[in-house]
Amino acid sequence: PALLFVKTGTGNEGGRRFYACSACRDRKECNFFQWEDEKVSQTRLAAREEYNRKHQPSFTHRQNVERYKNFVQLPLSKRRFCQECQQLLLPAEWEKHSDHQFLCGISTAQLKSPSQLLYPLENKKTTAQYLFADRSCQFLLNLLIDLGFRRVLCVGTPRLHELIQSKASQEDFRVRSLLLDIDFRYSQFYTEDEFCHYNMFNHYFFDGEAAHETCRKFLYEDNGERVIMITDPPFGGLVEALASSFKKLMAMWKETGKEDHNNKEMPMFWIFPYFFESRILDFFPSFNMMDYQVDYDNHSLYKHGKTGRRQSPVRIFTNVTPSMIVLPVEEGYRFCTICQRYVSSDNQHCEICNSCTSKDGRQWKHCVLCKKCVKPSWFHCSSCNCCALQTHSCEKTDAGCFVCGKAGHKRSTCPSLSRT
Ligand code: SAH
Ligand code: ZN
Ligand code: ZN
Ligand code: ZN
Ligand code: ZN
Repeated sequence: PALLFVKTGTGNEGGRRFYACSACRDRKECNFFQWEDEKVSQTRLAAREEYNRKHQPSFTHRQNVERYKNFVQLPLSKRRFCQECQQLLLPAEWEKHSDHQFLCGISTAQLKSPSQLLYPLENKKTTAQYLFADRSCQFLLNLLIDLGFRRVLCVGTPRLHELIQSKASQEDFRVRSLLLDIDFRYSQFYTEDEFCHYNMFNHYFFDGEAAHETCRKFLYEDNGERVIMITDPPFGGLVEALASSFKKLMAMWKETGKEDHNNKEMPMFWIFPYFFESRILDFFPSFNMMDYQVDYDNHSLYKHGKTGRRQSPVRIFTNVTPSMIVLPVEEGYRFCTICQRYVSSDNQHCEICNSCTSKDGRQWKHCVLCKKCVKPSWFHCSSCNCCALQTHSCEKTDAGCFVCGKAGHKRSTCPSLSRT
């Protein structure tokens, strides 16, 4: 299934609707395109089906689960992983991969950390796989344990899922998790109860009703085991599409709970950059943005500030009460008693705004003319009548903004995209 988009024309021309791939934001990766009202010929349909058949993964999830069982029976010396095909190999298959690079002696520990074994699919316009740094992953897990959650629906968070799964054998560890992700390579390491092949841009379960049911069962809270959903989607993705899928997952949770869940929302952490704050709040007004900076392993820009590198712009958006989200004091967070939440140590409480206003962790300053706090590098520009970088150009653009349609600014500075 694709996603329905609209091409907005310039001027008064009405938009024309078309279907395109939701998972790829690059026509080079997937060129599927179809006008909404287009009649598709039998030949084209057949060609499409043929193409789809040819592009199926070489094994089904079921087959991969069986293969895994066989793989773990092998002595260490016979456990190979093909780096080119990103696949665990059984001895009978070695021949076929003989001119591929492979790893030998795959240990149980390696099988338990697939996110280390597989290379990250970094393509920003498709999977945009950026893995949590250990510190952030541990922080998230400890936080949700402290909050009393016992089940974690991991939507696009394979590394958190992996951390939970790897501890599941410990006796006193009661947290369980289910991974929903589009990266099918993970089906080699997890059973159908631990991983569902899922597209979070259109809420599509590739394994159909069976996978739906797995998810539904997981969300059902037996003996008071509380569920939380944690998601870390590609930042280039459409917030609207993601929000619509997340609402469907929330609805699934609600349906499992009967009266119990009336007027309640499934607890959720949506991990996303701070400049999407107003977009996320548009769809989830009950959410708050936390100051915690989420760090990544394979993203040079998104690493922790205290080590001298740039600070990560990635935050946690959540419907859990802010005062319950305890941030580590040793990493530079403090509790603001007025705001009733943990904030970055440089985030000063502004008396006029009556809140800790910084979004990026630096100390912001209040502008009396704008009646709000702004970035420390901004100055009030009297011709634009707002604060901006001193180097900004005052020219107004004629064409309407791509995001909100209003004149006077471009998409990059659209106020509906960012309160900052
Ligand atoms: N920080 C997380 C990974 C986030 S990267 C962690 O360390 O666990 C984004 C994740 O979303 C990747 O795992 C990627 O495979 C997944 N993803 C990307 N596009 C997706 C889609 N359309 N549907 C479901 N998952 C997707
Ligand atoms: Zn191979
Ligand atoms: Zn405050
Ligand atoms: Zn202020
Ligand atoms: Zn100003």
